[in-house]
Amino acid sequence: MPKNMKKGAPPGSVVPQIDRTRCEGKAACVAVCPNSVFVVERMRDSDYASLPLLARLKSLAHGRRTAYAVRADACNACGACVRACPERAITLELKRSVPVA
Ligand code: SF4
Repeated sequence: MPKNMKKGAPPGSVVPQIDRTRCEGKAACVAVCPNSVFVVERMRDSDYASLPLLARLKSLAHGRRTAYAVRADACNACGACVRACPERAITLELKRSVPVA
């Protein structure tokens, strides 16, 4: 969670970022998110193509499954996904256009 953000920020003020070189599609984020922000599905071709070779091989070993934050606007920065991800693949980034109290 960004240092200048309090836990429980207004929905839409942060965006969960997923490091696809780390995500193995284990869906812990799907299980814990109270706002149904994530889905786990087959990695999109453009994302797969942008990975370094070793990360592509790792992705193949995990069925090319990865998380997407399809409802990022619903995130209220509770931090549950960040804590739950066994691969430490999720970070919360402040949206620049939204002021944070
Ligand atoms: S921080 Fe909380 S609300 Fe936001 S995506 Fe993670 S689990 Fe969901």
